[in-house]
Amino acid sequence: MYDFEVEKILKWVKGSDAKFLLVQAPDGVKPYLSSLLEALEEIGITVVLSGEHSWGGCDLAFCEAEALGIKHILHVGHHGPVRFKISGFNVLFIPGYAALRLDVEPLLSQLKAMRVRRVGLAASVQHLKGLEKVRRELEEEGFEVKIGGGRFPGLVIGCDYSATMVADVDVYVVIAGGVFHALGLSFMTDREVLAFDPYLGRVRTVEKLRQRVLARRLSDLAEAASAEKFFILVSVKPGQNRFALALEVKRRLEKAGRRGLIVALNEFSGEKLLNLGSCDAFVNTACPRLTTDNRDMFPRPVVNPGELRYVLEGNLAEYDLRSVLL
Ligand code: SF4
Repeated sequence: MYDFEVEKILKWVKGSDAKFLLVQAPDGVKPYLSSLLEALEEIGITVVLSGEHSWGGCDLAFCEAEALGIKHILHVGHHGPVRFKISGFNVLFIPGYAALRLDVEPLLSQLKAMRVRRVGLAASVQHLKGLEKVRRELEEEGFEVKIGGGRFPGLVIGCDYSATMVADVDVYVVIAGGVFHALGLSFMTDREVLAFDPYLGRVRTVEKLRQRVLARRLSDLAEAASAEKFFILVSVKPGQNRFALALEVKRRLEKAGRRGLIVALNEFSGEKLLNLGSCDAFVNTACPRLTTDNRDMFPRPVVNPGELRYVLEGNLAEYDLRSVLL
């Protein structure tokens, strides 16, 4: 199912002074790790598997490693650190490339039915290696295909589409399991975005989902406009920790005559948010996708930092969905 690049991992471990290794991976990947973990133990490493969630390259298990006195972390499932720099730990990122044959037929049928010609192509890290093959197959059928730039051209992550955006396309196609990445890209562009799920062999537009998110954002912002007391949520995850931004949000709220109390959390849950007591609205400075994709978790309206100006200035008519990822 996944290529964990076992030889590369063993070489890295043997070349280090590691005796203990903390291994973390997203929940959907953990069940596939057993032969890798056995291979590591066979060379004399004591492996500790993190049982916690691992949401992204922002979510390194430094707290667990520190608590256990472990200096080496193997992070599986993401391409590298997101929004922070690593220091004090020795970390190897292994993306876990999907080992499956990409059949582009469903995608070709959809694109032909839409009568589009210019396609922007992107993928989650698991499918990044398949991009060139899909590009060739689409080009053989007469499509003009563009892939973004940067260090990982065409890579989508939930909160960053800078390696994806290209000029002059009719439609974007995101190759990834589910619709999460395609939906995020649809916040950033006025072009239609198709989610191509290679596990299900299914292609679908995310336009209805985008409309639903937009409606919910506008409703939250309208409610938050009259809010007086805000909880400003800060994550302690290394790449989600935006404490300086939370302080700035507090300053802006207070300048506008509102109140803001900063709350620190690791994992967010509806129960934890309810336990905080009453407020009129939340400002979420952690993962911006919690606001869009886990909106039901928040018992009151929630606003992301990039959206705060619409709340404080009351100019919802100018709302731009791109601000939800700021
Ligand atoms: S979308 Fe959220 S979980 Fe994913 S990398 Fe960004 S901050 Fe982390």
